[in-house]
Amino acid sequence: MIKVTDLSKDYGPVEAVKSISFEIQDGEIVGFLGANGAGKTTTLKMITGYLVPTEGKIEVNDLNIIDDTHEIQKQIGYLPELNPLYTEMRVYEYFEFLAGIRNITGRPFKDALARVVENCGLNGVIHKNISECSKGYKQRIGLAAAMIHDPKILILDEPVTGLDPNQIVEIRGLIKKLGKEKLVFMSSHILQEIQATVDRIMIIHEGEIVANGTSDELMSNFMGNVLLNMEIKGGGVESIEHIQAKLPSVKFISMEDLNGIQHVQFEYDKGQDPREELFRYAVDNNWSILKMTPHTTNLEDIFRDLTTEGDINA
Ligand code: ATP
Repeated sequence: MIKVTDLSKDYGPVEAVKSISFEIQDGEIVGFLGANGAGKTTTLKMITGYLVPTEGKIEVNDLNIIDDTHEIQKQIGYLPELNPLYTEMRVYEYFEFLAGIRNITGRPFKDALARVVENCGLNGVIHKNISECSKGYKQRIGLAAAMIHDPKILILDEPVTGLDPNQIVEIRGLIKKLGKEKLVFMSSHILQEIQATVDRIMIIHEGEIVANGTSDELMSNFMGNVLLNMEIKGGGVESIEHIQAKLPSVKFISMEDLNGIQHVQFEYDKGQDPREELFRYAVDNNWSILKMTPHTTNLEDIFRDLTTEGDINA
């Protein structure tokens, strides 16, 4: 379990992380989503004990990162951004080296090696030089390296950045598999990567957590009004005014006449759906509806609105 309370980090005058609080339970895969410079890496480095917080508290399995840094680091596997590897080493040698640092040698090393090779699908490359491996395999090697000591928690900073679409699907699958046994906290600046992999999404913007929940929770909390685009023959401004009088939940946004076809945009509150009433109105008033297309806010819109200036519900 990870528990972060009122955590802040300043780099001189730059307030990179501003009093954030959250919890992640065992067995969860949580995505940490934010634009470049939002504060993701800084937060992950503090949780893994590589940066000291300016303020606030980090507890990992009831240990405190300030007092128990080494004990916490034993329980965490960390894949940093850009996956630093000693590319001149063979894959096998690299794991041996990392395990040696953690005093995992002899039989325990052989067992650990067998485990990560199996988990990360590295059988075919174990004797290769790391420099000869593809980017997807290098990422697997980074993940395996983070897991050589069999940690309960995996912290992955942008684990699929720079991979091609097939490699992304592979690494996503691998992370999901690992997430069945471990707490996984992974960052990304790309919504689709996060959405396809995690149970819960936390969005960070300019050092603050601006959303925290499952995709469905975020959708219901942040979904704005629904826009309805219609193309109508036979209707005019007067009938639009009449509609508004009859259907107060429908707000008229705009209308444009293109070659005798009215292109009308309405808006209605989330939870409302006036399409049937509009259709009946059209029949009663001799309109022909050529097109009726609702545009519902999706998670992409929500992410964009939360991580750019302005309020989605404004
Ligand atoms: P990215 O996806 O680009 O890595 P991020 O969300 O991980 O971004 P951070 O790297 O945590 O964001 O950066 C947060 C803020 O802190 C940014 O404004 C960044 O410029 C600043 N920052 C990060 N590291 C340092 C540093 N060592 N010294 C000064 N400022 C820093």
